[in-house]
This record gives sequence, C-alpha cells and structure tokens, in this order.
Amino acid sequence: MKSYRVTMIPGDGVGPELAAAAQACLEATGVKFDWDIQTAGMDVMAQEGTPLPERVLESIRKNKIAIKAPLTTPVGTGFRSVNVALRKELDLYACLRPCKSYEGVRSRYKNIDLVIVRENTEDLYAGIEFQKGTPEAAELIAQIEKLSKKKIRPDSGLSIKPISVTGTERIVKFAFEYARQYKRKKVTAVHKASIMKFTDGLYLEVAREVAKKYPDIEFEDRIVDNMCMQLVQKPELYDVLVLTNLYGDIVSDLCAGLIGGLGVAPGANIGTNGALFEATHGSAPKYKGLNKLNPTAVILSGVLMLRYLGETEAAERLERAVAEVIREGKNVTYDMKADRNDPTAVGTKEMGEAIIEKMGK
Ligand code: NAD
Repeated sequence: MKSYRVTMIPGDGVGPELAAAAQACLEATGVKFDWDIQTAGMDVMAQEGTPLPERVLESIRKNKIAIKAPLTTPVGTGFRSVNVALRKELDLYACLRPCKSYEGVRSRYKNIDLVIVRENTEDLYAGIEFQKGTPEAAELIAQIEKLSKKKIRPDSGLSIKPISVTGTERIVKFAFEYARQYKRKKVTAVHKASIMKFTDGLYLEVAREVAKKYPDIEFEDRIVDNMCMQLVQKPELYDVLVLTNLYGDIVSDLCAGLIGGLGVAPGANIGTNGALFEATHGSAPKYKGLNKLNPTAVILSGVLMLRYLGETEAAERLERAVAEVIREGKNVTYDMKADRNDPTAVGTKEMGEAIIEKMGK
C-alpha cells in the first residue's frame, strides 16, 4: 500500500497536543503515513538560533506536503512569524479556509458553508516596512512627497502594499478552479477599489478578466466593509470568497466566528510546489500541557490534506466521524459544551479517541 511521506511540524504552546490527536486520527483512516517530524518555533530558537531552521524548509520542499500545529509569534519583539515565513519561503500563495457549520457546534448561525481563498504573499503582509525615525523611512518619505506631491508626517512608520497582476491572476484562478472542482456556484472578489485604485483597483480589474474564462461560475465583487456586514446579516448569499492578504486574514476570523469559533476552523496553504495544512487558530500558550483545547480544527485540516492527496473516501470518513462526535456533544472539549465549566467535557486526547472510535463503526 502507498505510504505518504509528510512533514509534521508539532508546533509549540498547545500545538504538540493537537498535533498528536490529529496524527492519531489520520492514521486511523487506514491511509499510510511516513511522518517526517520537524520542530520549529520558540523552543527551537533557543537551541538552533533560528525559529525556522533550513532543515524544516528542505523537508517540506522534498516531501511537498506538510501538516503543522500552531506556532507562537512573540508580539512586537523577537522574530517575525514563522507561519508567515513558511508561506513566503515556499511560495504557498493560496490560503484556503473552508468555513462550514457542523450540527451541535454552539453558534448564532446555522448552515454556513463558505470558502475563503486568501492571497498569501503580497499586500501589507509582504513584510516591506520602514521604522519611524530611521534614515530609510526619512528617505522614502522624501521620495514619496516628491513623486506624489502629498505630505507625510515625519514621525510616520511605513508599510508597503504591493499587489501585482501575477499575484492576483493566480489567486483568482485558484478560487475559480476550486469552485469548479468542488461544484461551487459563485466566486466573490473582495476589495476596497473605491479608495486604493492602483492596488485594490488593479486586483478587481484582473479578477474580472480571470472570471471571463469561467463562464460556468457566477462572479461578483464586494467592497470589504460591506462584505463584513453582509456576512453577518446574510451569509447564505455567499459561496467562495477571494481576498487579498489582509482582508483575507480578517474575514477568515469573521467567518470562523460564524461557524462557532477558532476551535473548528481548518486551513491549508497551497502553492505550485507543495501544500501546508494548518488550523486558523494560534498556539494558545496559556493552555499548554493542559490537554484541554479542541483538536477539531487541526483534525479538519488533516481532512483537507487527505482530499488534496486524493484520498477522498478517507477524508469523508474522517469528516463524518468528527461531525458525529460534535453532533452527539458528549465526548467534546469544554468550548463545545453549553456551559464552559461542564465537568463532563473531555480533553484533547479523549476527543481524538472518540473520533477514532466513530470511524471504526
Ligand atoms: P489563539 O488562536 O492562540 O488563541 C486565542 C483564544 O482562542 C485562546 O485563548 C482560546 O480561548 C481560543 N482557542 C484557540 N484555539 C482553540 C482551540 N483549538 N480550542 C478551543 N479554543 C481555542 O490566538 P492568540 O492568543 O492571538 O495567539 C497565540 C499565539 O499563536 C501568538 O503567538 C500568535 O502569533 C500565534 N498564532 C499562530 C498561528 C499559526 O500557527 N498559524 C495563527 C494565529 C496565531
């Protein structure tokens, strides 16, 4: 039987606990995995001097497929996000975040079935920034004032927002190809072209061009602020959303909120040469080692990985088992109980075991 060599990054904070539950569930599908375990993040920084050693990137480049539990990024100081660096280094340009309601999840909304496609490499996340008060910032401010004839306060920091035709074409194409493959009906491009004409305006223009090649799928666009209101008021009108990096980040969390929170929101970062599967949520460090948090988002990221590998039957079986455990509401973590102090809530490991048991039936 075929065995898939997959890079597994256990993460830090609650990452390793969630990764162990997901690994057990993936193995229980019967699909064979040959795990290439690669540590990264805070703890590795202390030992190897970098949170993202070259060996991790090499492993993913070689295996072309990876699953990762969350990694901590210190705020304000220390290293830049390993999560962002991985996406950039490997050119994983598409972030895919399906947001689907499962019966039994506590949420104000029912029957949500949205797919977020977020561009991962450009926009204000490109990491091109100039710190307030530096000679580089002063030089850039002078140049911009000269070229644009507009004033910038000298005590400003600057972040650059590049949006290219190349980057936009491939992300919008990805959204349409996804829609076609998974029989979705509509793609909505989200932007603020009314204000940022040369970045978001370009994005919209390119999106309209790409859409012409997919006459079988409906296309429309929405301004991002209006999109947020519409998603809260009438999410059923939307299907696949394609967004630039920053709006994609924000709207992903909004949509995670519609389906019951971060504990159940899976994700994937996909490029031409590989894919990295990871939950939307972070490493929740205060819960580290408590066997308390919900493994669903990481397990459902594993479901996305199975689909990507073409293991559709195993993906469906695992997703059904997750849905069944959530629907029953018995062997679930505290965040899925009506009362967060419910003593019958189970731990991360036990919820994973309940899912495995369901798959056997
Ligand atoms: P977080 O997602 O880690 O946690 C915020 C809160 O959401 C938690 O306190 C918890 O109440 C809840 N939550 C998160 N995951 C949950 C789960 N599986 N089950 C139940 N409840 C859950 O966000 P944060 O506190 O802003 O970030 C913590 C660290 O994670 C930061 O260093 C951040 O940079 C990093 N982070 C990493 C990733 C990633 O690895 N891709 C993504 C986002 C944040």
